[in-house]
Amino acid sequence: MAIIAAFQGIDGAHSSVALADHFSRLGVMHEALGVPTFRQVATSVISGKADVGLLPVDNAIAGTVRDGYDLIAQYDLVPLTEIEWRMEHRLLGVPGSLLSEIREVHAHPLVLAECGRFLSTLAGARIVPSVDTGVAARELSESKDRSRAALGPPQAIARYQLIELAQNVADHPENYTRFLLFAGRDARPEVRALGGRTSPERRKTSLLFATRHEQGALAKCLGILAEASINLAKLESRPKLGKAWEYLFYVDLEGDAGLPHVATALERLRENTTSLQVIGSYDVGAASAPAVTAPAPLTEAEAPKATLDFPPLPASSKSWPKAARTSREHATRIPLANGTVIGGNEFVVIAGPCSVESRDQVLETAQAVVARGARVLRGGAFKPRTNPYSFQGLGWEAVALLTEAGRATGCPVVSEVMSVEQVERMAREVDILQIGARNMQNFDLLRAVGQKERPVMLKRGLSASLEELLQAAEYILAEGNPHVMLCERGIRTFETATRNTLDLSAVPVLRERSHLPVIVDPSHGVGVRRWIRPLCRAAKAVGAHAIMIEVHPNPAQAKSDADQALTFDDFAGIMLDLEQIPFSG
Ligand code: PEP
Ligand code: MN
Repeated sequence: MAIIAAFQGIDGAHSSVALADHFSRLGVMHEALGVPTFRQVATSVISGKADVGLLPVDNAIAGTVRDGYDLIAQYDLVPLTEIEWRMEHRLLGVPGSLLSEIREVHAHPLVLAECGRFLSTLAGARIVPSVDTGVAARELSESKDRSRAALGPPQAIARYQLIELAQNVADHPENYTRFLLFAGRDARPEVRALGGRTSPERRKTSLLFATRHEQGALAKCLGILAEASINLAKLESRPKLGKAWEYLFYVDLEGDAGLPHVATALERLRENTTSLQVIGSYDVGAASAPAVTAPAPLTEAEAPKATLDFPPLPASSKSWPKAARTSREHATRIPLANGTVIGGNEFVVIAGPCSVESRDQVLETAQAVVARGARVLRGGAFKPRTNPYSFQGLGWEAVALLTEAGRATGCPVVSEVMSVEQVERMAREVDILQIGARNMQNFDLLRAVGQKERPVMLKRGLSASLEELLQAAEYILAEGNPHVMLCERGIRTFETATRNTLDLSAVPVLRERSHLPVIVDPSHGVGVRRWIRPLCRAAKAVGAHAIMIEVHPNPAQAKSDADQALTFDDFAGIMLDLEQIPFSG
């Protein structure tokens, strides 16, 4: 039986996203019940309409959410676990809208407060408070108004068919909210089992107490805790209503109230306070949402296991420990802004022109490929050309046109970064940083993208072995960026019939040896338009997580890689073919 979980707001609100993430980590089914107020979250549990409730108790920018603690205390609810959630605010718009044309921004008042600095940069935009983050997103979607935007979590993008106009817009990047998940006193065993998963020493206990208005009263209470070697995780005070100069203290301490040293200290505390209420003990917060984009929730059963029945890794894996499949329990999933996940349970098609040549060319291509099912747009801005006199790309102008096309179609974009100096700006502007085949062993560049939070598509070098590809990936991972996808794009062999030899055997080998997602680029692999289509089918059949292909409104006019540019009709044919091939994600 699914657990019914009450939260304040509607689908797409931060609380609902935090709940979904929490339950999917536990592998427990839940049904979310959105209610209009914090109090109703508590009463839903008391009345039995919900098994558990979720209330915020702290926010890094706004401070203690007293209602959260007070309601849990007032209704004598039983906290089970805390959930730490990174509040990632994005500016969301309807497809086709542009940041420069936004005239109104809707959001929950707290969220507006957390994003003040960013909002002040939107000259002339009216700020409109709304009851809830989810409601702001839903109403924006219903309005279809391109001059209107909302602040909300990345999950609202897919939920309400919105696009992202700007990300990480909070005044401070480390913007966490701490929630408590709680149940009623007579909860059934499977509900109680949602807590009690961490050891008593690691659990926390929350208290509310009041002291007399006397010198040293608080110091005495703190002394009792210190003597028992109990660490405080939080201490906050507020005046007691109706009792001038009497204070109520909110305290979180480390350790379960059932531990003998904690129990004894609480007894002593009771003797030295005018009131003491132990709200309860609960598990400490699970890992929160990742820094850039929160993954679409997947149940444990759906998440691909990285360690299924594979033979041991070769001894050489010592030189790519972080890329090695054994370094993680689950395969790496790379979530993108529009809800697409690379390495998830859906096959992804990345498409767009080899080079961005003009606004019309890239917008037209973007609209055509997205309408036929592409989920990520590609477009070269800085082109690594063998011949120095060939078209070198439009540079930053192309990046701006590509990102405009991305916003217009609600798709994340990928573009190649050629030098260390470009990394900083590229990482701000595009969603995926591409490292081209010719740069696979540009170690400074690998380190530089490794220091960014953007996902990286690492293309296999023209004559690089898979070992070398994995070591190149290791450079990026070692710098702390976990979101690397490996791209097979054809290697040099003695064969001259095709531009390169597309090494599809790389796919099962890489998937066996690494947890990283694998992409195939048949366009550069064969270099000949009519051979790309069968190889797209083969790539999906052999287990690639995604393909990347080049499409142009008029291939004959393409300024780079004209022979391999697909027409819109070619692209449509490929998408139809792919529907017939099962995906073995
Ligand atoms: C590209 O994808 O635009 C490209 C230049 O590919 P590669 O680095 O594989 O040659
Ligand atoms: Mn190309």
